[in-house]
Amino acid sequence: MFPRSKTRLLFFMVAILVCCPAFGLGRVERDILYQVSTLDALMAGLYDGVQSIGELSRHGDFGLGTFDALDGEMVVLDGRFYQVRFDGTTTRVNKRFTTPFACVTFFDKDLTIPLTVPHDWGRIQGVLDGALSSRNAFHAIRIDGTFLFVKTRSVPRQEKPYTRKLAEIAAEQSVFEMRNITGTIVGFFCPYYSKGANLPGFHLHFISQDRTQGGHVLEASLLHGTLFVDETLGFQMSLPSTDSFRRLVIQEADKEAVSVVERGK
Ligand SMILES: [Zn+2]
Repeated sequence: MFPRSKTRLLFFMVAILVCCPAFGLGRVERDILYQVSTLDALMAGLYDGVQSIGELSRHGDFGLGTFDALDGEMVVLDGRFYQVRFDGTTTRVNKRFTTPFACVTFFDKDLTIPLTVPHDWGRIQGVLDGALSSRNAFHAIRIDGTFLFVKTRSVPRQEKPYTRKLAEIAAEQSVFEMRNITGTIVGFFCPYYSKGANLPGFHLHFISQDRTQGGHVLEASLLHGTLFVDETLGFQMSLPSTDSFRRLVIQEADKEAVSVVERGK
């Protein structure tokens, strides 16, 4: 055992190494989409939080996901973590909250596209498609703007034992319709080959500028705003160290179930 003063000194040195990027240790690669668990595991009913928001925040300041017990939609914007619950209540969460599934990155814009004229949902999707560097790369997507209309959903918190699959629960989602609202769309584009691990295509969440409303985006219509795109060439997964994950039999995803869950139809 170390004498007490040496223990303190050692602790201090470790703290410096971990906290100071100049020393190399603790340095975080920013151009990575970091993901907790897999979408298939969430779809299958693994709703236990397996990583804290404190840990997740070390891997990104921007992203989306859900919370322990499937308790609503997660929106991560400018390093702050928000929860949009089934009743629409939207609050900032503390670092002790946990997540069963989330994706984050450090948002560093590679492309800025001003959207000066109104864009309905079809046109928004067209602009997003056109803004991708390639459909084979991950991208983080941010739209700051004033929206004529945003339709979102959230899901109800589940009680243990979790016997219901996500597709079944999503059928009971609550839907929120917001009009003439300023806020931010936060999301990702994932390539086709990420199927199973994540959701191929666009996955977008929304949070209002006053941070009191949001959810998983089903549809939106923009009055004016700005699109920012961050091409993200790294992908990292942190898999749950739980017996339920180890035992889970992951089969070919039910395409219809994914569509019900993610597109709301
Ligand atoms: Zn979502």
